[in-house]
Amino acid sequence: MDLIEARFASLIRNASDVIMIVDAEGRIEYASPAVQRTFGLWQDDLVGRPLAEIWRDADRERIVAFMAEVTASQGVSVGPVEIPVSTKTRGFILECVGSNLLGDPAVKGLALNLRDVTDRKALEDQLRQLAFHDPLTLLANRSLFRNRVEHALALARRTQERLAVLMVDLDNFKNINDSQGHETGDRLLQTAAQRLVKCTRAADTVARLGGDEFAVLLEGIADVEQAEQIAISITEAFRVPIEIDGNELLVTASVGVPLSEPGDDTENVLRNADIAMYGAKTAGKGRYVVFHAHMQEQLRERLRLEDDLNQAFEKNEFFLEFQPIVDLKTSELLGVEALVRWQHPASGRMLPGQFIPLAEETGQIIALGRWVLEDACRQVSRWRRRMPAGEGLRIAVNISGRHLQQGDLFGDVRHAFEISGLEPECLLIELTESTMMHNSEATLLKLRDLRSLGVRLAIDDFGTGYSPLSYLHRFPIDILKIDRSFISRLTESSEGPKLARAVVMLGETLELETVAEGVEVEDQVAQLVKLGCVAAQGFLFSHATTLDEVGASRFAQRREQLRLAHAGYDRLTATGRYRVAEIVRKRGAA
Ligand code: C2E
Ligand code: MG
Ligand code: MG
Repeated sequence: MDLIEARFASLIRNASDVIMIVDAEGRIEYASPAVQRTFGLWQDDLVGRPLAEIWRDADRERIVAFMAEVTASQGVSVGPVEIPVSTKTRGFILECVGSNLLGDPAVKGLALNLRDVTDRKALEDQLRQLAFHDPLTLLANRSLFRNRVEHALALARRTQERLAVLMVDLDNFKNINDSQGHETGDRLLQTAAQRLVKCTRAADTVARLGGDEFAVLLEGIADVEQAEQIAISITEAFRVPIEIDGNELLVTASVGVPLSEPGDDTENVLRNADIAMYGAKTAGKGRYVVFHAHMQEQLRERLRLEDDLNQAFEKNEFFLEFQPIVDLKTSELLGVEALVRWQHPASGRMLPGQFIPLAEETGQIIALGRWVLEDACRQVSRWRRRMPAGEGLRIAVNISGRHLQQGDLFGDVRHAFEISGLEPECLLIELTESTMMHNSEATLLKLRDLRSLGVRLAIDDFGTGYSPLSYLHRFPIDILKIDRSFISRLTESSEGPKLARAVVMLGETLELETVAEGVEVEDQVAQLVKLGCVAAQGFLFSHATTLDEVGASRFAQRREQLRLAHAGYDRLTATGRYRVAEIVRKRGAA
């Protein structure tokens, strides 16, 4: 062996790839030592055996086809071709390259280069998995989902079949994620993913599009009923609470169901699914809604409104009206609740029900809340100075949960005091029950901060949520505003007074003042007084109006009368005030 030959021999012996020479029949003539290092096969055992037979298991067809191709090639190498094989101990993916050197007198065979690419393939698979799957739930991700929809649509065009994309959004997820922590949130999403998979057929693609948004692709759908059936089983499945660490968490699902129309593209189908899902949300969540063309118009309307809302701030289109809060026994004015209105350039005067939900959703509610706080404090502060018995009159402002949780309510309130000069004790912040209870620890801290400013807190629409009593006790609340529904039932059914009494008593037990909302008839006043309720507001007394009108009302006059009759009246209890009122009444009669 000359030097050059020896050098090549050494290279082959030490190469990490397995180098083999096989004859025209596929029998091994030579295998380099790497065959032992790589596959644990003995070099000497292999000589004379057909390549396809040395593995315990292999894609033999592919080996045979590969060698046939190498044999047929002239002067060019074949491959790389990937072939799965396995030995006694493990499986491999081989990357094979071969050259036909039958005509080369030094070789007289097929020269094969076999490389173990198992690890690389696994990594590639993992990367592909990552690129197309959501790592948390292992469901398809958005890009894979779009891809599948695109293919399904192309197929459907040829076969005249239809498909449906269900858009699934978890309703209460954000609350739970905020209040219970992200770890619980993650586990919730995983359970949700499993539930979705269980509700669908094996061939359907279930994907997580992001956040708490999932989608299901249903192929080969005969009619909308079939898609609805699956939507029903999804919404039903989510009615069962999910248990995590002993906590039962309820997250319902809102589902949008569009059926593809011939000629739809991916964009269309996904957008319609979204629109229908949004429809399910606005219809009250925890349900499915089938897409209809008119929904598109509604969506446009909504986008327009969103745009208008943005401009409304600049154009100064919001304004406040004030509804008097009246002492039930004396009829004197105790304060006012600020209620926002919007003078829309095209639609005219709009009530909060028409734009607050949208503002909540888009986050514009925070800026709106800030504006209401400032304007209400400024107006009331000025008005009170003009009022004969203005001192101590309170102003109630509604604040959205989102403002409390995500905005800087503390800073906004302080700013409102700075610019208006209003005494903090006179501001009453109204929050709904669900706002108070949600994310309780963080909320509790924020409420305490607010309280430290001197502000008072009220639960609005009390009785419509499900506050556990233990919670109520912990929260720094001053006032319960009893929801209108209890008040209207006072005179409507025999059960009504009982319910209202329970709520008023609850307030008493917790040493909270109760204010009745939506008092419309005299009978209700009598009942409420009997129950021990102190204050009320409602159409019976006055609709929401301007401060000037409130100032000229009989309730304001009554206040003035009582104040004049009795200095230091402010400091009296409700019963004390009642006695004074009686005295004044008798004096008036005399
Ligand atoms: P709310 O805080 O419970 O306000 C009372 C609502 O009941 C007002 O409706 C008021 O006009 C109405 N109301 C008062 N007395 C009666 C009555 O005797 N009978 C009937 N049927 N209704 C009565 P409005 O102004 O449409 O406000 C609706 C809701 O919008 C408010 O309920 C409040 O939750 C919200 N809202 C109003 N202004 C604001 C605001 O500035 N910010 C926020 N975040 N929400 C607001
Ligand atoms: Mg209110
Ligand atoms: Mg209310």
